[in-house]
Amino acid sequence: MTHPQGDRHPDLAELELHELETALEARGVERFRARQLYRWIYRRGVTDITRMTDLGRTLRDTLTAEFVLSTPRIIGDDRSADGTRKFVLELVDRQPIEAVFIPDTPAMTFCISTQVGCAMSCSFCLTGRMGLVRNLTAGEIAGQVRVLAAATELLDHPFNIVLMGMGEPLHNYDQTMKALRMLHGEHGLAVSPRRVTLSTVGIVPGLERLAREPFMPNLAVSLHATTDAQRSALVPPNRKYPLAAILEVCRRFPLKKRSRITFEYVLLDGVNDTPEDARRLVKLLAAVKAKVNLIPLNPAPGIPFERPSDERVERFAQILADRHITVSVRKSRGRDIRAACGQLIVEGGARKSAAQQMALLMR
Ligand code: SAH
Repeated sequence: MTHPQGDRHPDLAELELHELETALEARGVERFRARQLYRWIYRRGVTDITRMTDLGRTLRDTLTAEFVLSTPRIIGDDRSADGTRKFVLELVDRQPIEAVFIPDTPAMTFCISTQVGCAMSCSFCLTGRMGLVRNLTAGEIAGQVRVLAAATELLDHPFNIVLMGMGEPLHNYDQTMKALRMLHGEHGLAVSPRRVTLSTVGIVPGLERLAREPFMPNLAVSLHATTDAQRSALVPPNRKYPLAAILEVCRRFPLKKRSRITFEYVLLDGVNDTPEDARRLVKLLAAVKAKVNLIPLNPAPGIPFERPSDERVERFAQILADRHITVSVRKSRGRDIRAACGQLIVEGGARKSAAQQMALLMR
């Protein structure tokens, strides 16, 4: 894959192990060097070929002449009082993206982006306001994990990855799955699929493809409403992929023993948080191996909804629990640094014009 920068040299960050082996062989370098390179890049988090000291001067010179190694650059690192860190990373074409480190929840978790901006336009999400600027490459998706793991000194520790930053992973399917394969490799960070959660608005053809993947991450579906009329207003892709279609794929989704699909449900005060909504949600999920993660809205300027009171959240959760649905309420992390769900937007990014924003709200 050529880099957005259009560099002539292959980018080490964009290659799966077998691709790297082939690329090295074509340049007269032994295939086993690929594993060594992978260990430097992923396990040791080294971003500069000249610092890969056990490779020998001549080999390092060849690699430097023949390849590039692109790594997102940290240009912002905000720390929240609760330990959450929001990183702003700059890509080679100067586009900024955000990635978040959430400590002990109970695991260490990296929340990473799959696109610059997002095309889904969910009405309560700030990233949606940016529109889609471009897809991330596999190397940029995996690169966020490399950079965050190095910055938090977790390269040698287990951590979870959630694809819940900017973007819709199933709208950038191939690069997202390629990134997961690169992170999974035993010579790389050896991230187990059980430690990865892919969160989606529910793009049905993407879900069908995912159901056939050898690398199967945990699945989270952003539901947010219990009728098509309301869901289409809140989550516009619902017009194309309505509730029944999404739930049908979920019913057939191959799940490991004891595992379930997480349904995320953002609670908007007085909009989708009534007892009737909760009871409809129970019915919708009756035939699915489901658990529910309630996310009280993280409000933001320009978002035309309010966060419900704790009592309303509690009442909603209780109705689900009474009907034997496993339910959790997401504790918002890093709200003071705007690192919480739906708050990722890079200041000065390609924001929609005021007129476009109005049009979005009026639809
Ligand atoms: N595109 C994917 C991943 C994005 S964000 C998806 O939609 O699932 C992860 C979660 O944060 C989604 O469930 C999203 O709906 C939710 N979210 C977006 N804006 C939010 C906000 N303002 N407050 C709380 N959660 C929000």
